[in-house]
Parts: sequence; C-alpha cells; structure tokens
Amino acid sequence: MILTKTVIIKCNYNNKERFLLRGYPWEQGKRIEVNVSDLSPYSAARIDVKCFYCKEIKVRRFHEVHQLMKKNPLGRYSCFKCGHLQAKEIAAWKQSKGLLKRTEKRYWSYKENRLKELKKYIEEYGTLEGMYKLSNLPHIFFVYDHDVKEAIIELGYSVEELTQTKKHYDDYHVIKGKMEGFKALYKRLPSYEECKQSLQISMNHILKYGGMNKIKTLFELNDSRNTVYLKQLLRLYFEQHGIDYTENKEPFSNYAYRSDFTAYLSKKIHIEIWEYPPNDYDNIHQYYNENRREKERVYTLYAISYLSLYSEDFQKNTYEKISNLFKNL
Ligand SMILES: [Zn+2]
Repeated sequence: MILTKTVIIKCNYNNKERFLLRGYPWEQGKRIEVNVSDLSPYSAARIDVKCFYCKEIKVRRFHEVHQLMKKNPLGRYSCFKCGHLQAKEIAAWKQSKGLLKRTEKRYWSYKENRLKELKKYIEEYGTLEGMYKLSNLPHIFFVYDHDVKEAIIELGYSVEELTQTKKHYDDYHVIKGKMEGFKALYKRLPSYEECKQSLQISMNHILKYGGMNKIKTLFELNDSRNTVYLKQLLRLYFEQHGIDYTENKEPFSNYAYRSDFTAYLSKKIHIEIWEYPPNDYDNIHQYYNENRREKERVYTLYAISYLSLYSEDFQKNTYEKISNLFKNL
C-alpha cells in the first residue's frame, strides 16, 4: 500500500503536459507538490510503501512500486521477502477464478486439479496400462503424497477395470502400433477392410476415435516423422552421384511388402528406413517391431540383400552420414 499522498516534483518539459492537464501550476524549473495518483507510471519519485504481508514500511521509487502492483491481480504491494506469500495468494485467487494454468507449478498443489487431470487421462486412454510411460501424473501424485488408486476410486472408477488387459484395444496406442506396423510394410495406411481383416481392429474402435481420417491425424501417421527428411536426402544423394534408384519396389514375388528404396550400385540393394531402433522393446512399438522382424525374415528367406537405416541414427549430419555409408558399399 502506498502511504505517501503527495510528493514534490520539479517541473520540466517532459511533465509539462501531464501536470497542466491535471490543473497544476506548472512552470519550467519550479518545484510543485502533486498527488501521487497523478504521477506518471515512469516517475522516479520516492514514496513510502507498506508491505501488505509483513507491514514493513520502505522508501521506494514510484515506478518500481507501480510495476509490482500492476502485476498483482489483487493490486497488493509485497516486499521482496514476502514474494512467496504473495505468489501463494495470487495462485489461490487464480484457482478460485479457474485461471490457474497447468503449466504453473502451483496448479498441481490443488487436489481438485490433480483429480481433474487424472479424470481427463482416464477418459482419453480408458486404461491405466502404460500410464507411467505416457504421463507424469504418477510422479505428480507421488510428490503431493496423493494416492493414485484412492483418487481413481474417488472419481468413481474401478481400479480393476482400468487395469484389465482385456481392454487392450481401448488403448489407442495399441491401434496406433498396429497401424504403424502396417504402414512400415506397405508404405500406406490400411483401409477399413484391412483394419478388420488383417489387423483385427473392429469398426467400433475406428469409429470410437472418430473414423479413419481422424485416426490419421490423431496418430500422426501422416508422414510427419523424420523418415521423410531422411528420404529426401537419400534421393538428393542418389541424384548427385548419378546412382539409379527406384522407390517402393516389391522385392519378393509372394509378398506385397515394399522396400523404401532400391539402389542400383555394383549390385542391386534394397534400403529399409525404420522408424524405431532395432532394440526398441517398448510395448507401444511392439506390433511395429514384430512386423519388422517378419519382413526381415522374408528378406533372409529370399536371400535378398538390403540395408537398414534407422531414422534415429540420422538426426544429425544426415547428409555426411549418408555419403560415408554409400562410399563404403
Ligand atoms: Zn513483506
């Protein structure tokens, strides 16, 4: 709280308009007494100010105090050492108005927010399987000594139901994994029919996530990974070095699998770009990996040579790495 009511200021051309407009007897070079409420937000006038929290009175520059009070939605002045009390009070005020954001640290200190986020998670995923991997909620609950299972019950859900694996397909990451697996083999997404027939994903599950187009965006299957970048650099390399190549060729007579590239070097070589590293045992990518192993098995079966590139290995100095690789072939 500002205690000073009036201050003496020196008239100069910078404050001429302000004070004349407010009815003061402004005269260049003179000192006049003005109300603190008439000062410019940039005024360096010294004023007495009392901390709302510890009641200590200090002399500070008007513009500093003005800035600090402007930041506080309650319009209160706090001294430096009471900053934490002020922050707590502001958070409580924001929380009461629904203005506290998830990105603010204090957001999670409110039990109602933790419950709200947990409910959101359960509604989105429909299962607690993989929660530790997909969300930092367990960690947050732990920090606040808040029991997740108790919270689930409080929200009216059944812990048993949410942990049962028969709800497998309700976890869309499983569907995502299957679709990625399909895409890795055929270089395109499955049709509705293929979903049903080959992937055993029911129409209900597809509709649950808003249909195929929605799933494509939802699952970010629309070629947004860095394999796209890697492919472009490969094309560039082949073109610059006069290497003949084709894309999406089917190497095997009895399988509709396609390779990403076929390059015609001293001998023909197929190139496979994999989205995940070979020893990625992540459950989410399990179906993808199973399909990759199957495809690799077929390569071996047909004794067809191929080159595996892992997009992860090519995130830095991609062009240089590609050059080195092909120089050694
Ligand atoms: Zn204080």
